[in-house]
Amino acid sequence: MALSNTIKNQISLWYKSLSTYIDGFIPRIDQRQMIAEVAKTLSGEQGRHLVIEAPTGVGKTLSDLIAGIAISRANSKHLVISTANIALQDQILHKDLPLLAKIIPDLRFIAIFGRRRYLCPHNLTAICAVDQPQIDLMLLLQQEMAVTSQQESTVCQQLHADFIAGHWDGVRDHYKTALDDSLWQKISTDKVGCLARNCQFYHCCPFFLAIWKIEQVDVIVTNQALVMAAMESGSVLPEAKKMLLVLDEGHHIAAVARDSLEVEANITVPHLTAQLDNFLRHIEHYLSHYCPVKPPKLAKTNHLIRHRQKLIDCFSQVMAITQHLLPDNSQDPIYLFKLGQLPEELNVCCQQLLQLSHDFVVLTEKIVEHLSEQTGKHDAATLHLSLLISSKMLSYWQNMVKFWRLAGCETSSNAPVSNPNG
Ligand code: SF4
Repeated sequence: MALSNTIKNQISLWYKSLSTYIDGFIPRIDQRQMIAEVAKTLSGEQGRHLVIEAPTGVGKTLSDLIAGIAISRANSKHLVISTANIALQDQILHKDLPLLAKIIPDLRFIAIFGRRRYLCPHNLTAICAVDQPQIDLMLLLQQEMAVTSQQESTVCQQLHADFIAGHWDGVRDHYKTALDDSLWQKISTDKVGCLARNCQFYHCCPFFLAIWKIEQVDVIVTNQALVMAAMESGSVLPEAKKMLLVLDEGHHIAAVARDSLEVEANITVPHLTAQLDNFLRHIEHYLSHYCPVKPPKLAKTNHLIRHRQKLIDCFSQVMAITQHLLPDNSQDPIYLFKLGQLPEELNVCCQQLLQLSHDFVVLTEKIVEHLSEQTGKHDAATLHLSLLISSKMLSYWQNMVKFWRLAGCETSSNAPVSNPNG
């Protein structure tokens, strides 16, 4: 899209208006140049990517925002501005954007945090109701959520009261006092532990409320770890074609990308065998308890057993090959593949394991989908437990798919696949 005169005039007007609200504001040539470059890049008039390096205090964030909001509005897209940490995220949210809201009509914005920063009202309510008969004890036991002290119990009751009364929005960092990590672990959740549409708190869940608001806002303030996660799963932020992305404090991005996108997995045969045995038991329970009319083909016992054996054979092969590579008598044996490239025979195993794990992802997705349709037809506690176990297993197989895909990945863009630092 060309940078029209209307957009240029809009940007210029907003920029000049800053002097009304910032004491001693003097328009500077550096800022004007930054805004112009950002506008040209985001509108696609000049390249697709732009890197700006400028000293602190020059006004980079305001320049990004002014140009970005004008262009994203003209293109019916969202401007996503991503920072290195929550403190910077809050600064944009509580300082820069409220200032711009005085200048830009109907400016709407929201902050999106990582999922673990949001309260899970389901878990908090379950903990607070621990003495009541309707408590879903199975879930508490399964998720090791039970509170361990009277003090934790008192804090939970207070959090619950504040959340219900609307005094707290459910974001961990927005609570009036610091919350202990071990307690927060119990009253928040991740994708695996979330019942989503099957949860009775779905419509008042802080995480989902934030996600639903995304559609209505101009600007989404987030952090870089979340951008990386969204690039992989695409689930939290708008699709790439519906957003313009600004990475503030971009010098952190390489480390964040590596930390967020790297995958680790236990690839020993005993660990795999234990996972497979659990998985097969769970499928057996699923078939006998929920009696799907048309069970997935791979869920049939003979198919499952064959698939299990293929996985174990392939794993054994990987172990045999890799054990030769590891140095003898080392306390912490590590082997780095040159430029991340695997020998051909190992690569073949990776491709097979990728396919075999992917087959189990598809199977587990079908089970989760079927279980999600069973609300009201089965006892809620048992169904929720089955859903959570299935989700956990889905997450395991998805991780294995990522692992084998990355391990067997040929170099792309001539960059090494592995982290050269180990
Ligand atoms: S929808 Fe998920 S995150 Fe929200 S309250 Fe329910 S289980 Fe917790």
